[in-house]
Amino acid sequence: MKPEKVIVIEDEADILEVIEHNLAREGYRVLSARDGQEGLRLIKKEGPDLVLLDLMLPGLDGIEVCRKLKEYPITRSIPIIMVTAKGEQSDIVLGLGIGADDYVTKPFSPRELMGRVKAVLRRGPLKEDRGAGERIVRHKVVIDAGRHEVRVGAKPVALTATEFRLLHFLASHPGRVFTRDQLLNRTIGEAVIVVDRNIDVHIRAIRRKLGSYQHLIETIRGVGYRFRDEKE
Ligand code: CA
Repeated sequence: MKPEKVIVIEDEADILEVIEHNLAREGYRVLSARDGQEGLRLIKKEGPDLVLLDLMLPGLDGIEVCRKLKEYPITRSIPIIMVTAKGEQSDIVLGLGIGADDYVTKPFSPRELMGRVKAVLRRGPLKEDRGAGERIVRHKVVIDAGRHEVRVGAKPVALTATEFRLLHFLASHPGRVFTRDQLLNRTIGEAVIVVDRNIDVHIRAIRRKLGSYQHLIETIRGVGYRFRDEKE
């Protein structure tokens, strides 16, 4: 199998070196750029399987690069992991909102970075409509989309329609962080006005109903929520 190609856009030489070293050691083919413009050119030329994108870059910053990649049809589906500094939560929310797949916060361990890289490559691009008859099983929690029901063990869990959509959506994309806006748009949408549009309220209700399995839904402080990916 051909090695997967990863492009790293990072202006700090020492961090770039660490990332390149770890990716190469895992057998990935690594190419790199030091700024956003050069990165964009390289991505269009090489068509990588994944982009690791630093947010703070000279000239064109990471958010702008991400936005441009999502604009071009040929680069739109290339997964992006943002590499961020501490305290860049609002940029993370912005980046996830425009289509970045995940992020790592500096300083990160090589193990954490490689975990993210593998998880994103394994997941592939975000699929909006997972199979309607899909059944998701995690420990004793069974989410049955076909029957529109959730059980913990043998016990049925009474969720509202919104709670069900929210839980099913999160569980269909384990390990992926979604912002509150993304969850709102994808599970409540524009049409329903009778429903509480505060995502936190619904998440709290779901957790309460899941009881001892509430840890399956993780809060990502300042960013949003994700369903725990047990493979990571
Ligand atoms: Ca930087």
